[in-house]
Amino acid sequence: MVLKIQEGVFSLSKRVLIVDDAAFMRMMIKNILLDGGYEVVGDAENGIQAVEMYNELKPDLVTMDITMPEKDGITALKEIFDHDPDANVIMCSAMGQQALVIEAIQSGAKDFIVKPFRPERVLEAINKVMETNNQGEY
Ligand SMILES: [Mg+2]
Repeated sequence: MVLKIQEGVFSLSKRVLIVDDAAFMRMMIKNILLDGGYEVVGDAENGIQAVEMYNELKPDLVTMDITMPEKDGITALKEIFDHDPDANVIMCSAMGQQALVIEAIQSGAKDFIVKPFRPERVLEAINKVMETNNQGEY
């Protein structure tokens, strides 16, 4: 009963899964999200882990790096959408990846942020996706 109340009603912070092959980048994004009031439920270092953890954790939002070993972010994004068409995924791209960003958006990504990250831009993108997602839910 207590758990049900905590999970169902009083957990107001949105749950985020961070995906990036660079540990320092995952830590940086995590700190930005925690400062912004989000809950980080997990972090993955490649696309294989990302898809597995998404299906297990069902986060409200994913920050998805594009270039990663094992499985890249675009492939992981497509697999996540195959299972959950309502997934909220924001791509994390580097300079010069415009073509991949366009492919990601066409595949269902809600927005993208470009490295090097500015914390305010990261939170702006995430807040916007979460607000849009909440419209009509109440
Ligand atoms: Mg990378």
